Amino acid sequence: MEKRELVIIGAGPAGLSAAIYGRRAGLDTLVLEKGRPGGQILSTNRVENYPGILDGTGTGLADAFRAHAELFKAEIRSVSVQRLEVRGGEKIVTLKDGREIAAGAVILATGAAFRKQGCPGEKKYTGMGVSYCAVCDAAFFEDLDVAVIGGGNTAVEEACYLTGFASKVYLIHRRDEFRADRLVVDCALANPKIEPVMDSVLESIEGGDMVERIVVRNVKTNERRTIELSGVFIFIGLLPNTGFLGDLLRTDGGWIVTDDRLATSVPGIFAAGDVRTTPLRQVVTAAGDGARAAMSAYGYLHAARCGG
Ligand SMILES: Cc1cc2nc3c(=O)[nH]c(=O)nc-3n(C[C@H](O)[C@H](O)[C@H](O)COP(=O)(O)OP(=O)(O)OC[C@H]3O[C@@H](n4cnc5c(N)ncnc54)[C@H](O)[C@@H]3O)c2cc1C
Repeated sequence: MEKRELVIIGAGPAGLSAAIYGRRAGLDTLVLEKGRPGGQILSTNRVENYPGILDGTGTGLADAFRAHAELFKAEIRSVSVQRLEVRGGEKIVTLKDGREIAAGAVILATGAAFRKQGCPGEKKYTGMGVSYCAVCDAAFFEDLDVAVIGGGNTAVEEACYLTGFASKVYLIHRRDEFRADRLVVDCALANPKIEPVMDSVLESIEGGDMVERIVVRNVKTNERRTIELSGVFIFIGLLPNTGFLGDLLRTDGGWIVTDDRLATSVPGIFAAGDVRTTPLRQVVTAAGDGARAAMSAYGYLHAARCGG
């Protein structure tokens, strides 16, 4: 069985930052990533709040993180992790092809994924008008009407982004106030292409081969409204990518619980970034977590080597 000192699962900002710190600490470091390295920032156009990067794009920052990890000779392997378990005191990572890797320490940096709305039509029209990524798909809706579902920062910001393409953006939120930051909301509401539809939930997405309309229901009056449009962008939150862990670790609503050294409830397994319980899910916090988790893993491995 392949044996590695440090195995990092996930190559988003947290995993790649952990790889940089792991390699610089001299650890034999393997990063396992099921998609393109970079994580969620690959699906955003601009990243304006990562310190020192004044004109950042999501893909540019992702590529820079990856290049930095590779500069220090971290191995990034393209593969999905199916399971993590502790067997006979060893941490065993099982890959999609069934192969196993024994790790001295593991950093979980698998991030989070978009929450689905779960209404009729959502699944059928995903990729046919339903999207979870404005940056990826906005250009398909040039001069067409679209809806954005959600009321947080991502929903409101992506609604603004969509106005660069769509002729009209309905911003549908189930409450009477947006949760997004005041500045973001003010900016959106000042945009004549955005029509807020408050107190409303998405009931169904309908059409032929492609999306043609949605039905929304006002939660206060129960009145239904049909809106003719071509696209539906859903931004209603995130879910942790922890399904492959089973009940190995202590979690809270699926998010991994860590201490302040980012150790999980299982010795030698650490968690970093969006996947753990944390008050702020951002690139800067994920990258900071990656560094801390790598140094904690180093301390753990060093103590184990020295019989500590
Ligand atoms: C649309 C959008 C816009 C955003 N804009 C900003 C912004 O402007 N500024 C900002 O600071 N933050 C922004 N964020 C948030 C930021 O992207 C995240 O906080 C950050 O990417 C979290 O990093 P992470 O490494 O913890 O997780 P992620 O970025 O989610 O990376 C996790 C990685 O793990 C991989 N993975 C998951 N499961 C497995 C598995 N079983 N096996 C192998 N690999 C696996 C995934 O493929 C992914 O590459 C935005 C997010 C989105 C969705």
